[in-house]
Amino acid sequence: MIQLIKGFKDILPGEVELWQEIEKTARALFEDFGFKEIRIPIMERTELFAKSIGEDTDIVEKEMYTFPDRKGELITLRPEATASVCRSYIQHKLYAKDPVRKFYTIGPMFRRERPQKGRYRQFYQINAEIIGVDSPLADVELIFILLTLFSRLSVSDVAAHINSLGCPECRPEFKTALSGFLTSSSGNLCSDCVRRKDRNPLRVLDCKVPACRTAMTGAPSILDHLCPACNEHFEIVKGALKAINVPFTVDKKLVRGLDYYTRTTFEIQTGELGAQNAVAGGGRYDGLIKALGGPDTPATGFAIGFDRLAEIADLNRTDFAQTPDIYIAALGEKNRSLVFEWKCAWGLEGIKADMEFGDKSLKSQMKRAHRLGAKQVLIVGDNEIKQGAVILRDMTTKVQMSIPIEDVVEKIIERS
Ligand code: AMP
Repeated sequence: MIQLIKGFKDILPGEVELWQEIEKTARALFEDFGFKEIRIPIMERTELFAKSIGEDTDIVEKEMYTFPDRKGELITLRPEATASVCRSYIQHKLYAKDPVRKFYTIGPMFRRERPQKGRYRQFYQINAEIIGVDSPLADVELIFILLTLFSRLSVSDVAAHINSLGCPECRPEFKTALSGFLTSSSGNLCSDCVRRKDRNPLRVLDCKVPACRTAMTGAPSILDHLCPACNEHFEIVKGALKAINVPFTVDKKLVRGLDYYTRTTFEIQTGELGAQNAVAGGGRYDGLIKALGGPDTPATGFAIGFDRLAEIADLNRTDFAQTPDIYIAALGEKNRSLVFEWKCAWGLEGIKADMEFGDKSLKSQMKRAHRLGAKQVLIVGDNEIKQGAVILRDMTTKVQMSIPIEDVVEKIIERS
């Protein structure tokens, strides 16, 4: 038997209804806040990700699904969405009409990480991006939307963690201070961090290895190195979050794995997911659009881990159970053809009808109706057709009654 690829998964009926509900809730919220959907391809030229995410990140170094196509061009299954949204914004000159754009997109991402609970090789994200706004209020709006979505999905155990990563003005000074600290403590770092120390020192800050955590206790804080403009930006973020009653924690060790982040960075963490406690992450990436060849445009965004959200959304799954309003048990070929016509017509009127296509006994059809959770069963045999009245059985009360054929639709609607 051919099995699916390791780290990939199927989302089966029974589970998929929850995903649909989450998606519906997210879409409604985005539309209310003025976001427009954008759909981007799942493959891009490799250089787009290498350039935007950064060569020295785990994603680009070891997690991308990259392969040459038949003409030898290197292409990559997207590991995240922001780079493609920016590429699209630039390529279609979306800034020409109005430089301020709010986008959302929902779809699969691919990273060849070590699979474990909450970490997959194909996973889904819900992304939102606000392009063209440098005001800190755009960052705050995103955090507000995230927490509103989680509350609408009855996710209770969530907390917003925020930090600032500074900008190209102030970050180099911080990196120098951090590198100095790392050189003196390198003996205590894990092998990954020994490598990161020189190439991407910020990443050492959020390494989860206990020895690294201990080693980083006295590390310098970016917040002590912010330039006046970044400092003011961060103060406004904190003030506005307080003003709209959003609780948050400042976490000076919070950095993002992606190179293009500047200033505000945030993560929504939950206590319900064990080791993979980040259910969403995001922040500002003011330099990216220019770096990709577009106009100098500030931007900010987030990505929600859809798979992780689906695990903690506390929605009552029985609400989504799809059961037929009516199961039609027909006996004999002729009657089956007749009820098939009814079933098609009723489907157009929004009645969920199901039937047996094969030649099965009444007993086995009743069993199937029961298995499907049908609320009612219509029994149609030669006698019924002759008399112009069919039998309607209520599957809960088990009461049966004879109904003239012309009244059937009305009765089904009345009772479903
Ligand atoms: P990132 O794009 O790395 O900032 O990730 C944003 C969010 O996507 C994270 O907070 C996770 O919830 C989710 N995520 C990232 N990688 C994975 C993965 N391999 N499997 C499942 N969810 C993931």
